[in-house]
This record gives sequence, structure tokens and C-alpha cells, in this order.
Amino acid sequence: MIPFLDLQSINSPYEDLFKAEVAELFRSGRYLQGEKLRQFENALKNFCEVRHAIGVSNGLDALRLIFHAYKLLGMLRDGDEVLVPANTFIASVLAISQNNLVPVLVEPDEQSFNLDEQLVEQQITSRTKAILVVHLYGRIGWSDKLQAIADKYNLLMIEDAAQAFGASMNMKRAGALGDAAGFSFYPGKNLGALGDAGAITTNDDELAAVLRSVSNYGSNIKYHHHYQGYNCRMDELQASILLLKLKHIEYENCIRRKHAQFFTENIQHSEVHTPELPENEAEHVWHLYVVRSAKRNELMEYLNKKQIQTLIHYPVPIHLQPAYTNWNHQSLPVTEKLSKEVLSLPMSPVLSGEDANAIVRAINQFS
Ligand SMILES: *Cc1c(COP(=O)(O)O)cnc(C)c1O
Repeated sequence: MIPFLDLQSINSPYEDLFKAEVAELFRSGRYLQGEKLRQFENALKNFCEVRHAIGVSNGLDALRLIFHAYKLLGMLRDGDEVLVPANTFIASVLAISQNNLVPVLVEPDEQSFNLDEQLVEQQITSRTKAILVVHLYGRIGWSDKLQAIADKYNLLMIEDAAQAFGASMNMKRAGALGDAAGFSFYPGKNLGALGDAGAITTNDDELAAVLRSVSNYGSNIKYHHHYQGYNCRMDELQASILLLKLKHIEYENCIRRKHAQFFTENIQHSEVHTPELPENEAEHVWHLYVVRSAKRNELMEYLNKKQIQTLIHYPVPIHLQPAYTNWNHQSLPVTEKLSKEVLSLPMSPVLSGEDANAIVRAINQFS
């Protein structure tokens, strides 16, 4: 079987180095808010070229904390509307609704899978206060045009960079494009921890100070609490593995780009639509390589029989989920169509050229 994602192979090169880190952790006796987290935050800050990087518990918490901090700063209020792509992972939307803000689902562009800029401006009301730009599947969803809209209507531009670690546009990394950004280091993401972890990046000093505090019980000085904060800390163990893996992420993203280029140039089938390669390759880190087909379910079953594992991101759009019954009547035809057509092929830095070849051959023979 060609697995969708072979995490053992991805992480095994780090095993010996990581074991040394664990031994060091046992000697140090300090498991939280220590040297490793400080080092990782610094490395992340340098990588993204931003003023602040804050390690947190996971990607959802990173995004939730950003919205929460803007509320504490008085820049967002209960009931404010936040535009968000309708075809994203549910975490993007949860981060908004769990802060008593109103997610406004915007249909994506069918080619890029990212926000349709035309529709963004149409959905702005007097209550709209922010755009959550999701760099879906690893492709930058930010653009000068979107920024111009945000500037015109005085909206916060927040990035959901969970799938796009290392991607960049206009020489700026995901994480440095908006007012603030949330990252996820869930094991399956391009930069994956050995468990849950996430981070926030921003150039805003005031926001960063609030975020540091609210992610740690609302406290800057132990047992002194300025806010009713949360416990959303990243632990030293996750910081150590991320620090080790960060050194290789650029190389790994290059391998993903090579595979993506190979797939798009060689998959030739009238009923399988491959994703476009952005003109500037830095804009995509191919967290997922997603093809579309009207015969998606048949294609998935066929590939499974050929020993090729694929997944669907995502099979049920958020507005049709039981978690959001209020929206179940809404019609979002593009999002609904995509959910029936998308199929994610195996994609990772440990996918072999031989396996990539086998995947292309199998798809080209699909009937
Ligand atoms: C993974 C992901 C998240 C959430 O990250 P977790 O670390 O799993 O909480 C948020 N948004 C998107 C687009 C994601 O893919």
C-alpha cells in the first residue's frame, strides 16, 4: 500500500537526536516555559521575519487566542462579523464562533481553492471587522487585492497558516502577511510535532503582550492575573522536536513542490482535474495535493484497489454539519460541489519518486 502519509518515516530520522533532547529534559527538570520554547519561538520569529512568535498548545487555540486578544484590546466585539472561506477545516470557523463573533462563510475560487476576492467585497457589511484568510492546502490565500479591500474597509487581516508553514508571497512568509497568524504543528502538518502544538506570529507589540498573558492564565508574573486567561502553553518536549525539524522544512517543502509539479505535468485524464501550479512556486507548500473529479468516489475506490491510499479534505462542508444547524439551510454551491469532487493524493517529503510514478500511472489508466 502507498500510504497517504507515512509519519513514521517522516519522524524516524529525528529519533536519536530527540532521545538526547528527552534525556536533557529529564536532567533539567523544567518541562514548561523553558529554554526550548524560548529557542523555538526565536527560530520561528527569524524564519517568518516577524517581531513576535508565541508557542501555544495547538492551531485551534492559536486562532481562538488571536480573536480573544483582539476583543480584550477592544478591537473586536461580540457579534462582529468575520469573513472566512466556506471550504476550510472547521477549526477556522470554530475559532470565530467560540469567541461570540459571527463567521460569514465566503465561497472559494474553484481554481485556487482559496477565498474568491470578488465575493469578499460583496459580503462586507457595517458589522464586518475582520477577514480570516486561510492558506488552504498550503497555498497562500492572501493577495494585494485582498489587502486593499481590508484597508478600504478597515478590517483586520488574520491568517490561518495551519497548512502553509514555509509558504511565501512578495518575499513575505505566511505568518508575516496579515495582522496576526495562527499555525498548527499537528503531526500531519508540514512542520509536525509529536503531539499537539501551535503558534501565533504578529508584528503588533501590544497584541503580542496580551497573547503571551492570556495563553498563560492571564499572567505575566506568577500568581498575578491581569486577565481571566487560559492554559494554552506549548511544552518543552514539543518545542525540542519542532526546533530539530524546523532546520529541514525548506528542503522538505521543496520535495513536496517537485512531487506536485510531477503530478500536475503527468496526470493526463479527461475526468481528473489537477491543481494549477502557482506562477511563483514559493506561494505553495503543498500540504495537500488535491485533484477534482466528478467521479471522485469511483476514483478513490479504484485507487484503493490499486493499493493507493487517498483522503477527502473535506467531505462535509461546515454549513451542512450538525455542529452548525443554523446554517444547514444555506446554499453554497461552489463549496458543496468541491466537497463532492476533491480527492487528496499521497503527498509528503518521504513519498518516493517510484510511488509518485505509480500514482500517475494508476490515475491515467482510470476508467
Ligand atoms: C489543522 C488546522 C487547524 C487546527 O490545528 P490543530 O493544531 O489541529 O488545532 C486550523 N486550521 C486549519 C486550516 C487546519 O488545517
